[in-house]
Amino acid sequence: MKMAVVAHGGAGPGPERQKNLQRAVDVASKLLLSGASATEAAVEACVILEDDPVFNAGTGGVFRNDGSVLLDASIQTSDGRVGFVIAMSDTPNPIRVAKDLLDEPINGLTGPGARVWADHRGHTKEKVEGRPPMEGDGDTVGVIVRDSSGSMACATSTGGCSHRPPGRVGDVPLPGSGFWVNEALAVAATGEGEEITRALLSFRVSSKAGSPECTSLIDALKWGLDNLISDKASVGLIAIGREGPGIGLSNTVMPWASWIED
Ligand code: ASP
Repeated sequence: MKMAVVAHGGAGPGPERQKNLQRAVDVASKLLLSGASATEAAVEACVILEDDPVFNAGTGGVFRNDGSVLLDASIQTSDGRVGFVIAMSDTPNPIRVAKDLLDEPINGLTGPGARVWADHRGHTKEKVEGRPPMEGDGDTVGVIVRDSSGSMACATSTGGCSHRPPGRVGDVPLPGSGFWVNEALAVAATGEGEEITRALLSFRVSSKAGSPECTSLIDALKWGLDNLISDKASVGLIAIGREGPGIGLSNTVMPWASWIED
Protein backbone atom coordinates (compact mmCIF):
# COMPACT_ATOMS: atom_id res chain seq x y z
CA MET A 1 0.00 0.00 0.00
CA LYS A 2 1.56 3.34 -1.04
CA MET A 3 1.42 6.09 1.56
CA ALA A 4 -0.03 9.40 0.38
CA VAL A 5 -0.82 12.93 1.57
CA VAL A 6 -2.93 15.76 0.14
CA ALA A 7 -3.54 19.20 1.68
CA HIS A 8 -5.51 22.27 0.65
CA GLY A 9 -5.27 25.93 1.61
CA GLY A 10 -8.88 26.96 1.00
CA ALA A 11 -10.97 27.83 -2.05
CA GLY A 12 -10.14 31.33 -3.29
CA PRO A 13 -6.47 32.15 -2.76
CA GLY A 14 -3.96 31.57 -5.51
CA PRO A 15 -0.65 29.75 -5.87
CA GLU A 16 1.11 32.09 -3.41
CA ARG A 17 0.10 29.61 -0.66
CA GLN A 18 1.70 26.66 -2.42
CA LYS A 19 5.05 26.63 -0.64
CA ASN A 20 3.37 26.97 2.77
CA LEU A 21 1.20 23.94 2.00
CA GLN A 22 4.19 22.01 0.73
CA ARG A 23 5.89 22.45 4.11
CA ALA A 24 2.97 20.72 5.82
CA VAL A 25 2.88 17.92 3.23
CA ASP A 26 6.64 17.39 3.73
CA VAL A 27 6.14 17.09 7.50
CA ALA A 28 3.38 14.51 7.00
CA SER A 29 5.39 12.45 4.48
CA LYS A 30 8.48 12.39 6.72
CA LEU A 31 6.37 11.25 9.66
CA LEU A 32 4.80 8.50 7.56
CA LEU A 33 8.21 7.32 6.38
CA SER A 34 9.33 7.08 9.99
CA GLY A 35 6.34 4.90 10.86
CA ALA A 36 3.70 7.38 12.04
CA SER A 37 0.01 6.58 11.62
CA ALA A 38 -2.29 8.48 9.25
CA THR A 39 -3.87 10.20 12.26
CA GLU A 40 -0.54 11.39 13.68
CA ALA A 41 0.68 12.63 10.30
CA ALA A 42 -2.59 14.42 9.46
CA VAL A 43 -2.67 16.18 12.85
CA GLU A 44 0.97 17.30 12.73
CA ALA A 45 0.57 18.64 9.18
CA CYS A 46 -2.59 20.47 10.26
CA VAL A 47 -0.71 21.97 13.23
CA ILE A 48 1.94 23.36 10.83
CA LEU A 49 -0.86 25.07 8.88
CA GLU A 50 -2.61 26.32 12.05
CA ASP A 51 0.70 27.86 13.19
CA ASP A 52 1.24 29.59 9.83
CA PRO A 53 -0.45 33.03 10.00
CA VAL A 54 -1.22 33.11 6.27
CA PHE A 55 -3.97 30.51 6.80
CA ASN A 56 -7.43 31.07 8.25
CA ALA A 57 -6.94 28.45 10.95
CA GLY A 58 -5.36 28.59 14.42
CA THR A 59 -3.06 31.63 14.64
CA GLY A 60 -4.41 33.32 11.48
CA GLY A 61 -8.12 32.66 12.14
CA VAL A 62 -10.28 35.54 10.89
CA PHE A 63 -12.29 37.67 13.32
CA ARG A 64 -16.02 37.11 13.64
CA ASN A 65 -18.23 40.18 13.26
CA ASP A 66 -17.71 41.07 16.93
CA GLY A 67 -13.90 40.82 16.72
CA SER A 68 -13.69 37.44 18.45
CA VAL A 69 -11.53 34.59 17.07
CA LEU A 70 -13.46 31.31 17.29
CA LEU A 71 -11.95 28.22 15.76
CA ASP A 72 -13.42 24.98 14.39
CA ALA A 73 -11.51 21.75 13.75
CA SER A 74 -12.29 18.13 13.01
CA ILE A 75 -10.70 14.76 12.47
CA GLN A 76 -12.13 11.50 11.15
CA THR A 77 -10.40 8.17 10.64
CA SER A 78 -11.13 5.25 8.32
CA ASP A 79 -11.72 2.98 11.32
CA GLY A 80 -14.88 4.96 12.07
CA ARG A 81 -13.78 7.46 14.74
CA VAL A 82 -14.50 11.17 14.71
CA GLY A 83 -13.63 14.18 16.89
CA PHE A 84 -14.60 17.80 16.39
CA VAL A 85 -14.63 21.15 18.17
CA ILE A 86 -16.71 24.20 17.34
CA ALA A 87 -16.08 27.88 18.13
CA MET A 88 -13.10 27.39 20.45
CA SER A 89 -11.53 30.52 21.85
CA ASP A 90 -7.93 30.89 23.12
CA THR A 91 -6.81 27.67 21.42
CA PRO A 92 -3.98 28.03 18.88
CA ASN A 93 -4.23 24.36 17.83
CA PRO A 94 -7.86 23.22 17.98
CA ILE A 95 -6.99 20.17 15.85
CA ARG A 96 -5.11 18.72 18.84
CA VAL A 97 -8.27 19.01 20.95
CA ALA A 98 -10.36 17.39 18.19
CA LYS A 99 -7.85 14.53 18.01
CA ASP A 100 -8.05 14.04 21.75
CA LEU A 101 -11.82 13.52 21.39
CA LEU A 102 -11.40 10.59 18.98
CA ASP A 103 -11.60 7.96 21.69
CA GLU A 104 -13.94 9.74 24.09
CA PRO A 105 -17.60 8.85 24.66
CA ILE A 106 -18.43 12.47 23.73
CA ASN A 107 -16.75 13.18 20.41
CA GLY A 108 -17.80 16.79 19.74
CA LEU A 109 -17.58 19.88 21.97
CA THR A 110 -18.38 23.53 21.47
CA GLY A 111 -17.64 26.98 22.87
CA PRO A 112 -16.70 27.48 26.54
CA GLY A 113 -17.38 23.79 27.32
CA ALA A 114 -14.81 22.75 24.73
CA ARG A 115 -12.26 25.06 26.33
CA VAL A 116 -12.99 23.76 29.86
CA TRP A 117 -12.43 20.18 28.63
CA ALA A 118 -9.24 21.24 26.80
CA ASP A 119 -7.97 22.84 30.06
CA HIS A 120 -8.69 19.61 31.88
CA ARG A 121 -6.63 17.69 29.27
CA GLY A 122 -3.75 20.20 29.40
CA HIS A 123 -4.12 21.76 25.94
CA THR A 124 -2.39 25.12 25.45
CA LYS A 125 -4.61 28.07 26.36
CA GLU A 126 -3.41 31.28 24.79
CA LYS A 127 -4.99 34.31 23.16
CA VAL A 128 -5.15 33.78 19.41
CA GLU A 129 -4.28 37.02 17.58
CA GLY A 130 -6.31 36.29 14.48
CA ARG A 131 -6.65 38.75 11.63
CA PRO A 132 -9.27 40.95 9.97
CA PRO A 133 -11.88 39.30 7.75
CA MET A 134 -10.98 38.86 4.11
CA GLU A 135 -12.92 39.52 0.92
CA GLY A 136 -14.20 36.25 -0.46
CA ASP A 137 -13.46 32.91 1.16
CA GLY A 138 -10.26 30.98 1.55
CA ASP A 139 -7.18 30.08 3.58
CA THR A 140 -8.98 27.35 5.55
CA VAL A 141 -6.91 24.18 5.75
CA GLY A 142 -7.44 20.44 5.34
CA VAL A 143 -5.11 17.45 5.21
CA ILE A 144 -5.83 13.84 4.23
CA VAL A 145 -3.31 11.06 4.80
CA ARG A 146 -3.12 7.36 3.92
CA ASP A 147 -0.54 5.34 5.87
CA SER A 148 1.31 2.11 5.06
CA SER A 149 -1.51 -0.03 6.47
CA GLY A 150 -4.01 1.71 4.19
CA SER A 151 -5.66 3.53 7.10
CA MET A 152 -6.77 7.07 6.30
CA ALA A 153 -7.38 10.21 8.34
CA CYS A 154 -8.71 13.65 7.48
CA ALA A 155 -7.94 16.74 9.61
CA THR A 156 -9.51 20.14 8.91
CA SER A 157 -9.29 23.50 10.68
CA THR A 158 -10.70 27.01 10.18
CA GLY A 159 -11.55 30.36 11.71
CA GLY A 160 -14.72 30.23 9.61
CA CYS A 161 -15.75 32.24 6.57
CA SER A 162 -15.28 36.00 6.90
CA HIS A 163 -18.14 38.33 7.89
CA ARG A 164 -19.93 35.77 10.09
CA PRO A 165 -21.37 36.29 13.59
CA PRO A 166 -20.00 34.54 16.69
CA GLY A 167 -22.71 31.83 16.88
CA ARG A 168 -22.34 30.72 13.29
CA VAL A 169 -21.43 27.06 12.59
CA GLY A 170 -19.74 26.26 9.29
CA ASP A 171 -19.08 22.94 7.57
CA VAL A 172 -15.62 22.19 8.94
CA PRO A 173 -16.74 20.60 12.23
CA LEU A 174 -19.78 18.83 10.72
CA PRO A 175 -19.29 15.17 9.68
CA GLY A 176 -20.55 14.56 6.14
CA SER A 177 -20.41 18.26 5.26
CA GLY A 178 -16.80 19.45 5.60
CA PHE A 179 -15.32 15.94 5.66
CA TRP A 180 -16.13 12.26 5.32
CA VAL A 181 -13.88 9.24 5.70
CA ASN A 182 -14.79 5.58 5.33
CA GLU A 183 -12.75 2.45 4.63
CA ALA A 184 -12.63 3.18 0.91
CA LEU A 185 -11.93 6.90 0.68
CA ALA A 186 -11.59 10.26 2.40
CA VAL A 187 -12.98 13.61 1.24
CA ALA A 188 -12.60 17.16 2.64
CA ALA A 189 -14.39 20.30 1.47
CA THR A 190 -13.57 23.98 1.70
CA GLY A 191 -15.22 27.25 0.73
CA GLU A 192 -18.62 28.72 1.54
CA GLY A 193 -19.69 26.59 4.49
CA GLU A 194 -23.42 27.26 4.19
CA GLU A 195 -23.39 25.92 0.64
CA ILE A 196 -21.37 22.86 1.71
CA THR A 197 -23.64 21.97 4.65
CA ARG A 198 -26.80 22.38 2.53
CA ALA A 199 -25.33 19.86 0.08
CA LEU A 200 -23.92 17.45 2.74
CA LEU A 201 -21.14 17.66 0.22
CA SER A 202 -18.37 15.36 1.46
CA PHE A 203 -20.71 12.47 2.27
CA ARG A 204 -22.61 12.70 -1.00
CA VAL A 205 -19.43 12.94 -3.06
CA SER A 206 -17.98 9.88 -1.31
CA SER A 207 -21.23 7.94 -1.86
CA LYS A 208 -21.14 8.77 -5.57
CA ALA A 209 -17.55 7.56 -6.07
CA GLY A 210 -17.45 4.13 -7.68
CA SER A 211 -21.02 4.42 -9.04
CA PRO A 212 -21.60 3.82 -12.78
CA GLU A 213 -21.86 7.59 -13.23
CA CYS A 214 -18.58 8.35 -11.41
CA THR A 215 -16.18 5.46 -11.82
CA SER A 216 -13.17 7.49 -10.69
CA LEU A 217 -12.69 9.64 -7.61
CA ILE A 218 -12.04 12.76 -9.67
CA ASP A 219 -15.36 12.17 -11.50
CA ALA A 220 -17.11 12.13 -8.13
CA LEU A 221 -15.48 15.43 -7.06
CA LYS A 222 -16.49 16.99 -10.36
CA TRP A 223 -20.03 15.62 -10.01
CA GLY A 224 -20.32 17.18 -6.54
CA LEU A 225 -19.09 20.60 -7.60
CA ASP A 226 -21.20 20.62 -10.79
CA ASN A 227 -24.45 19.26 -9.33
CA LEU A 228 -24.57 20.11 -5.64
CA ILE A 229 -22.95 23.55 -5.51
CA SER A 230 -24.17 26.84 -6.93
CA ASP A 231 -21.88 28.54 -9.45
CA LYS A 232 -21.98 31.59 -7.21
CA ALA A 233 -20.24 29.84 -4.28
CA SER A 234 -16.49 29.15 -4.14
CA VAL A 235 -16.00 25.54 -3.10
CA GLY A 236 -13.14 23.04 -3.38
CA LEU A 237 -12.54 19.39 -2.51
CA ILE A 238 -9.57 17.14 -1.84
CA ALA A 239 -9.71 13.34 -1.64
CA ILE A 240 -7.72 10.13 -1.31
CA GLY A 241 -8.90 6.61 -2.15
CA ARG A 242 -7.62 3.19 -1.01
CA GLU A 243 -5.08 3.45 -3.83
CA GLY A 244 -3.56 6.18 -5.98
CA PRO A 245 -2.52 9.76 -5.27
CA GLY A 246 -4.41 12.46 -3.38
CA ILE A 247 -6.35 14.78 -5.66
CA GLY A 248 -7.92 18.24 -5.51
CA LEU A 249 -10.53 20.09 -7.54
CA SER A 250 -12.43 23.34 -7.11
CA ASN A 251 -14.86 25.57 -8.98
CA THR A 252 -12.43 28.45 -8.33
CA VAL A 253 -8.75 28.69 -7.47
CA MET A 254 -7.61 26.40 -4.63
CA PRO A 255 -3.99 25.80 -3.64
CA TRP A 256 -3.35 22.12 -2.92
CA ALA A 257 -0.25 19.98 -2.61
CA SER A 258 0.28 16.24 -2.47
CA TRP A 259 2.82 13.47 -2.00
CA ILE A 260 2.81 9.78 -2.80
CA GLU A 261 5.43 7.21 -1.81
CA ASP A 262 7.86 6.24 -4.60
N1 ASP B 1 -15.69 26.21 4.97
C1 ASP B 1 -15.21 27.15 5.93
C2 ASP B 1 -16.37 27.72 6.70
O1 ASP B 1 -17.45 27.86 6.13
C3 ASP B 1 -14.44 28.28 5.35
C4 ASP B 1 -13.47 27.91 4.25
O2 ASP B 1 -13.35 26.76 3.90
O3 ASP B 1 -12.82 28.84 3.73
O4 ASP B 1 -16.23 28.07 7.83
